[in-house]
Amino acid sequence: MSVFKKFWDDVSSLWSLIVGLKVTGKNFADKNVTLHYPRETVTSGQLEGFRGPLELIGKPKDPAKPKCIACMMCVTACPSKCITVVKAKAPKPTEAELQAMKEAEERGEKVKKPKAPKEPAKFLYDFSLCSLCGSCVENCPAKALRYSSNVYLTVTDRKELKMDLLARLGAQAEAAAVETVVENPKNVEAEPVEKEAGTES
Ligand code: SF4
Ligand code: SF4
Repeated sequence: MSVFKKFWDDVSSLWSLIVGLKVTGKNFADKNVTLHYPRETVTSGQLEGFRGPLELIGKPKDPAKPKCIACMMCVTACPSKCITVVKAKAPKPTEAELQAMKEAEERGEKVKKPKAPKEPAKFLYDFSLCSLCGSCVENCPAKALRYSSNVYLTVTDRKELKMDLLARLGAQAEAAAVETVVENPKNVEAEPVEKEAGTES
């Protein structure tokens, strides 16, 4: 080996070492991006951009009811076929309503039959098939879907990844209501006190 080649090899090795140390030093000084779970837990500020399993968004006035209008756009847009939506059916008319409709028909009046509400009767989601591509979220005209921030989801059976999103929305609304009461007990409406007989003015 010539002296020049040996010198060049030494310079190259030294340069590689400097570059490696630079990368190590930069990452050493950078902000830590991992957590020492379970001693540390993720804060909401660290969840920006995180995509957890899908969840339905509730109506502002009734958080247990979804904003979903059962339009089926998400079902069509999903490339993995992981969403199943069953539209709600029109309510069955009561005997009295049927009789009234029959009489109206006989009188030659236009009869309005009960319409199906624009809401899902079932909303099932298979997280085991979902690639979190976002096509369903982007195509939802009612802005009724979003990614959850559930970073701690664990299951022991694949079947547990098949989710009933309507049931989950109901449970979330209930939990949020309990949380509000715990945080601000004054929000709890006072139980109506029954008036004793004979005290009414
Ligand atoms: S995120 Fe993509 S794969 Fe997952 S349910 Fe939506 S459309 Fe389907
Ligand atoms: S979640 Fe959105 S896109 Fe899917 S059925 Fe409901 S309204 Fe339509």
